Amino acid sequence: MTNEATNELSVAEQAAITSGSDFWHTTAVESAGLPALTVTDGPHGVRMQASEGDLLTGIPATCFPPAVASASTWDPELLRRMGEALGDECRAMDVAVLLGPGVNLKRSPLGGRNFEYFSEDPILAGELATAWVRGIQSKGVGSSLKHYAVNSQETDRMRISADLDERTLREMYLRAFHRVVTRAQPWTVMCAYNKVNGVYASQHHWLLTEVLRDEWGYEGLVVSDWGAVVDRVAAIAAGLDLTMPGPDAAGDQALVEAVGNGSLDPALLRTSAERVRKMIVAAGKRTATTYDAAAHHALAREIAGRAIVLLKNDGDVLPLASGGQSVAVIGEFARTPRYQGGGSSQINPTKLDDALTEIKASTGAEVRFAAGYTIEGTAPDQALIAEAVSAATGSDVAIVFAGTVHETEGADRDSIELPAPQLALIEAVSAANPKTVVVLSNGAVLRTRPWDQGVAALVEGWLLGQAGGSAIADVLFGRVNPSGRLAETIPLKLADHPSYLDFPGENGHVRYGEGIHVGYRGFDAREQEVAYPFGFGLSYTTFTYGTATATVSGAGVEIRVPVTNSGSRDGREVVQAYVSLPGSTVVRAPRELKAFASVAIAAGATEEVVLTVERGDLAYWETRLGKWIVEGGEYLVEIGASSRDIRATASAKIDGDPARVPLTADSSVAEWFADERGSALIKESFASATAGDSPLGALAATPEMLLMLGSLPLSRMAMFPNSPLTTEVVASLVKAAND
Ligand code: BGC
Repeated sequence: MTNEATNELSVAEQAAITSGSDFWHTTAVESAGLPALTVTDGPHGVRMQASEGDLLTGIPATCFPPAVASASTWDPELLRRMGEALGDECRAMDVAVLLGPGVNLKRSPLGGRNFEYFSEDPILAGELATAWVRGIQSKGVGSSLKHYAVNSQETDRMRISADLDERTLREMYLRAFHRVVTRAQPWTVMCAYNKVNGVYASQHHWLLTEVLRDEWGYEGLVVSDWGAVVDRVAAIAAGLDLTMPGPDAAGDQALVEAVGNGSLDPALLRTSAERVRKMIVAAGKRTATTYDAAAHHALAREIAGRAIVLLKNDGDVLPLASGGQSVAVIGEFARTPRYQGGGSSQINPTKLDDALTEIKASTGAEVRFAAGYTIEGTAPDQALIAEAVSAATGSDVAIVFAGTVHETEGADRDSIELPAPQLALIEAVSAANPKTVVVLSNGAVLRTRPWDQGVAALVEGWLLGQAGGSAIADVLFGRVNPSGRLAETIPLKLADHPSYLDFPGENGHVRYGEGIHVGYRGFDAREQEVAYPFGFGLSYTTFTYGTATATVSGAGVEIRVPVTNSGSRDGREVVQAYVSLPGSTVVRAPRELKAFASVAIAAGATEEVVLTVERGDLAYWETRLGKWIVEGGEYLVEIGASSRDIRATASAKIDGDPARVPLTADSSVAEWFADERGSALIKESFASATAGDSPLGALAATPEMLLMLGSLPLSRMAMFPNSPLTTEVVASLVKAAND
């Protein structure tokens, strides 16, 4: 890369500009007219610290719903609007880059940062994050796609090696990153703390340069996670550009020395410095603005309302009437909302709605409150429970607010159970009032069985951001018809989860033993029952699906399906397309999400929903060829209201990519027979052998022998007595097979 501006920087200045000047600023180079930029967290709000030590409060900003909630909307358009609003808040606070979104997969329900990540599915995560990045960057503010890569746990997060095979890595853990990079070009990509297959992500040449830049065409800069760089020289050599935080005088010095003594190619440092310079110049185009805090609060409320997932609603206990029905509001979380997780994403909100106040404002009928538990309590408080039972008994409906107490960056959870005091409360209240509704606040899935069997309705309220309280009231009273869908499976119990046996690893390594079978893919492959499947969520109306069609073109598959709102309320359906290839030559999950759409449908109306599956999304990573291959065949397209509620199917005949794995002497007899050319050649050889005195002759005649010897590499045939397949013959077969 030639660039005059960077060439003007001395090597020392190049070193300095590739690390921060403090926690949240890049290094200014005044002689080159380069100011320091402000970067800050992210992702669901702008966390601007008023001072360095002020980690947790900061300047007020809108706390939008964290990713666990925004993902449940399954609506990229909402994410784009959130991104735009965040862009305006960044401009108002002079922030150049907001550190998000996080697209790591939710590999285990125990993941401490699951609340900051979107999904267990890479296409869902990738689509939502792409929209978010486009939204914020349309405002001239950069994003930071994080944490690249395979950062799906907090345990030992700064050292652990995520050990996984390349197919799993590519198809599952890199897929969302690929989507966002190629579609939205985030200004920055943030490397992860952890190692990937033994190499720190911060100095992983394959990840940072070969895949990210050479394969995907990434043009922005790679920033380190805060404190992720172990060796500045190795990091620059691998393709990491900006080390944060700073200053890092020792690292700067090491870079200058490495360039001086020839151990680091000076072009690499120059290139990284140039990327930082380009970002500073691009950020300079931003203009300052103000933002309307009330409008952003309203947007946060809209997104939160769309994120709530109605899991159960027996006897249509919901929505509540806005008068006439007395309500017992139970649970400390109703008045002390749990609305975001802990750690670097923690926002100091501009306003905070609580459900108790909002419920009171929503009904003319009597509302009684009982705390039911204390947030930090570890054992059931019988006095608080008795008070709650009495409120529930004397009311038409009881709404219990329950949820997790701690979810934070830096620590994984050790259980998916609700705290004991809350479990006891739910049991007592639901025994006292058959119309008990439970509203959950949690950043990652909770076990709901068996207690959910005893309640009439279950509302998954996730962590909804600062307007969660009003959004919950909107759904409870039917001002918003729920349309949230699960972006992660709720298992019957933790031990059922595909990740269970290999999480969180030990002695510095975690083995991704379930491979490509992450989340619902694993539950489906083992035909396991779950509490609530991926993609699931109820509505106050009902939808029926008509006949689906699938039209194949070079670009992929276009699916059309008419969906009718067959109930009496306007609503929104999230139509999901899952694809599989029966009889595939490689192991595949029974179904994989490939396209989806959130569609508003008026009561009684029918909409034709169009979903597009891109051809590239049908590909699997062919390890033998080291490339993506679309296998030819008759694909099954399943269209449903969840991964386990398929309403229509279609089939799509796809022409495969030309792909042939070369035959070698080490290819097995079965592999030779599976290949058209190889099989003809080998049959010829065997046929001639039958004429002579060779046991191999029998192979041609008896299929059982073929079964038995199928796994034998061809070259080993040479070791059989009187084998006609001498080393020379095998060599000529290999040549003939591949010429
Ligand atoms: C987190 C990042 C965050 C950074 C800056 C790190 O601990 O992993 O997600 O952006 O701190 O606060």
